[in-house]
Amino acid sequence: MDRRSLFEKTTTLGLGALAGCALPGVAQTGIKTPFAVPATYIPIVGSDQMFPVRRVYCIGRNYAAHAREMGSDPTREPPFFFQKPTDAIQNVAPGTIADHPYPTLTRNYHYEVELVAALNRGGRNIPMATALDHVYAYAIGLDMTRRDLQRAMGDEKKPWEIGKSFDRSAPIGPLHLAGQTGAFTNGAIWLKVNGQIKQNANLNQMIWSVAEQIAKLSEAFELMPGDIIFSGTPENVGPVVRGDVIDCHIDGLPNLGVKIV
Ligand code: MN
Repeated sequence: MDRRSLFEKTTTLGLGALAGCALPGVAQTGIKTPFAVPATYIPIVGSDQMFPVRRVYCIGRNYAAHAREMGSDPTREPPFFFQKPTDAIQNVAPGTIADHPYPTLTRNYHYEVELVAALNRGGRNIPMATALDHVYAYAIGLDMTRRDLQRAMGDEKKPWEIGKSFDRSAPIGPLHLAGQTGAFTNGAIWLKVNGQIKQNANLNQMIWSVAEQIAKLSEAFELMPGDIIFSGTPENVGPVVRGDVIDCHIDGLPNLGVKIV
């Protein structure tokens, strides 16, 4: 097969896969693969359905005091985003303390508790006024960070991936339907390590609200059903070591617990 026909074959397969994706809830059929790649799902509270994850977006420095502790000026910076791979998701059942492996290569492993918004509607240039209509559900999550690697890469003006986008870097609780919880614009968000309070703030201290994040993000990317957004962490991020137990809270959601192993 020459290069041109290989390209055409690949394109045809690509379009076929795309057409399959356009049918919500319908499994793709007729595509043969040499091995299976697991998809990522998050449980939905009160439902036998699972939320299929398409992309994991994260906003950086979205609480003023956290932006300052990371060495930037929160008043002048527009929001910025990065992604984690979908299989960075580690589902954690409420009322449990899940084992979370201390990752390789780091000596400064940090917690960041965050509100997560899960979308069931996409779009480009979504107006802020209707942005929350795109939110299907909310969850509590951890944006776990190899801080030393993130900083080193930043210092060298290289991508953050190794610091932020590694395996199991996104522990998350189950999704709670927005229709039942309402929007999360206000309420306590805190994190304890071994029972000691570390992060303690209010969701109303976000620089960019969830609605603004969706509006801004949709200027840069076409958002799609299945996208989730980690909405940033408050100040006082810090390190954990093996044996530490992290307990996270957001008013209106069950706590999220992990033990570093
Ligand atoms: Mn974060």
